[in-house]
Amino acid sequence: MGVVSIDLTGLALGTHDVDWPDLAALQQPTWGDPVALAQTLSVLASYPPLVFAGEADQLRERMAQVAAGNAFTLQGGDCAETLSEVTGPNIRDRIKTILQMAVVLTYGAGMPIVKVGRMAGQFAKPRSQDTETRDGVTLPAYRGDMVNGFEFTPEARRHDPERLLRSYHASSATLNLVRGFTSGGFADLRSVHAWNRGFIKGPAQKRYEQMANEIDRAVRFLEASGVADAEEMRRVEFYSAHEALVLDYERPMVRRDHRTGLLYDTSAHLLWIGERTRDLDGAHLDFISRIHNPVAIKLGPGADRDTVLAIMDKVDPDRIPGRLSFITRMGAQRIRDVLPALLTSLGEEARRVSWICDPMHGNTFTSPGGFKTRRFEDVVEEVRGFFAAHAEAGTHPGGIHVELTGNDVTECVGGAGEINLADVGLRYETLCDPRLNHQQSLELAFLVAEMLER
Ligand code: PEP
Ligand code: MN
Repeated sequence: MGVVSIDLTGLALGTHDVDWPDLAALQQPTWGDPVALAQTLSVLASYPPLVFAGEADQLRERMAQVAAGNAFTLQGGDCAETLSEVTGPNIRDRIKTILQMAVVLTYGAGMPIVKVGRMAGQFAKPRSQDTETRDGVTLPAYRGDMVNGFEFTPEARRHDPERLLRSYHASSATLNLVRGFTSGGFADLRSVHAWNRGFIKGPAQKRYEQMANEIDRAVRFLEASGVADAEEMRRVEFYSAHEALVLDYERPMVRRDHRTGLLYDTSAHLLWIGERTRDLDGAHLDFISRIHNPVAIKLGPGADRDTVLAIMDKVDPDRIPGRLSFITRMGAQRIRDVLPALLTSLGEEARRVSWICDPMHGNTFTSPGGFKTRRFEDVVEEVRGFFAAHAEAGTHPGGIHVELTGNDVTECVGGAGEINLADVGLRYETLCDPRLNHQQSLELAFLVAEMLER
């Protein structure tokens, strides 16, 4: 962000002129009060866009480089953002973590890294059950702060449309800080050491310090030689993404680009559709096929060739470079069986999209203490299986999509910090899925950099 020159003339308000077809939409809130909802939707439609069409176009160009095998994308952030965790330190540490991982990947792989935050809109979650029962009391399940509250009370669990507006404002505040950090000098390549400050110093952070010393030397060499472009080193392109799940949030955020008349979802640069809402005749695929942002679809181990081709024909019939990515989340146990066959069966079509590995969602289990967790080793194994599958099929392993935090949590087991199953509850802060902590995120980046080097 911060690189596109933006023409502000003719910015349309919310697109009331779009006739959204009445299709089945899974995982939607039941708001109750239709009058309050209608008011909220029109307020949301009157708000300024959070991102610009030109920025989304630029990300599509970057993703075209990913699809072509010339770049790699790093997508990361919380499973679910929460309104109360939208704080300066949290956002800063997540950005620092992603910048650190990206620099490790760039340095190791010598390839441009397209950086995408799973943030500034990731406030809603699909759930496997509509309700939750505790001690004989049944209430609506927590669906993310965009819909209801986590607290187990009838009042908190009520679906409240006011939360759509609060999510917009929280996203706006988050993006404002992201833009400040990534264009205001904080992301300067001469600050690689500073990004590591304030974190606990484990083996991965130490390894990072050594690499940062090498980068410093290289930067000084380039500066002394007069070939360093100061402006290019000062800023970084950083894009936002979230799951397009709650259509009452996404639809009012759609705007018509005055340059072309095309529709863009201005809630984020990239939107994805989850494994649970990607049915071909459903409202989510219809929505995503109408907007011109770069988009992604999650694919679980059951996805077959015909389904993938049908998704491509619906969402990206013209096979626009950079338009469509598939985020596979097959599980460490299944990926080596399932993904090579799927890629091979797609033939040339597999080269027209980007392939991204989500090594998190196929590897979740419950600890003996009752916490949802994942093993770091399974995460790494799934990424290895992903690289092996693409090597076998002759396609490009285009990126990773991970749930992470800059905080020192104990939500995933394993890694150099040797978090074991009994420790998972110690600093378990996520309200939804377990995230890699800072150390595990850096460790993963070093391992993926080695896989990319080969
Ligand atoms: C997620 O990304 O948090 C998620 C719910 O993933 P999936 O749709 O792959 O289950
Ligand atoms: Mn998740």
